Amino acid sequence: MLKKFLRDVITLVAGKQAEKITDLLDSEKYINEFLIAKKLDITINQTRNILYKLSDHGLVSSIRKKDKRKGWYTYFWKIEVLSSMVFLKNIFEKRIEQLSNQIKSREMKEFYVCERCNIEFNEENALVYDFVCNECGGIFSRKDNSKVIKDFKKNMDKIEKELRFIEEEIKNQKEKLENRKIREIKKEKEERKAKRKKKNKSLKKTTKKEVMKKSKKKISKKKTAKKPKKIKKTKAKSTRKKILKK
Ligand SMILES: [Zn+2]
Repeated sequence: MLKKFLRDVITLVAGKQAEKITDLLDSEKYINEFLIAKKLDITINQTRNILYKLSDHGLVSSIRKKDKRKGWYTYFWKIEVLSSMVFLKNIFEKRIEQLSNQIKSREMKEFYVCERCNIEFNEENALVYDFVCNECGGIFSRKDNSKVIKDFKKNMDKIEKELRFIEEEIKNQKEKLENRKIREIKKEKEERKAKRKKKNKSLKKTTKKEVMKKSKKKISKKKTAKKPKKIKKTKAKSTRKKILKK
């Protein structure tokens, strides 16, 4: 059902030749525009024209990636389900309003018809022509509005049902986006937390190492500092002893 509506929107905006694009575009991942052109069997320029038309109404979105070797950009496209459904919702609401006006007008006014030419006139125009068809000379007959009203109402019911589905889909899509946002924020927070932890750990490690290094240096300094003194002393003693002996 969603796919059908997406197809409807896309054909409404970009014409019948764009219909197949709906099946190629994804709502989750971006598709290479050259691949779209190849699959549709049309030129890249034709493909881009369709995609730009759709993009003008926010029905599709794109990202670009630079080709490292060739140095140019390639565009990747994806369908925007929420915007597409909102776009279709507006169209359906307008149609319902039009139908409702037509039903009202049929309920209040008389219409006349030349059955031979199948042309319809409202009361004012029928009066202008004096109820005679200027094409065939036939006399107008009064239109049975009840059948027309019945058809309009049937059509309106159908559109209202579809509208309810679209509104439901809009709700779903909004929830989906909201949940994705929450997930992303959560992920970001966790990543930041993990980074901080890592930083703290490495900071602790370095301080520990530094402390160890410093204390080792102190110890070795103490040791090296004490030893030569002793040697000097003993040397001095021994030289003194030697002197005394002499
Ligand atoms: Zn006629």
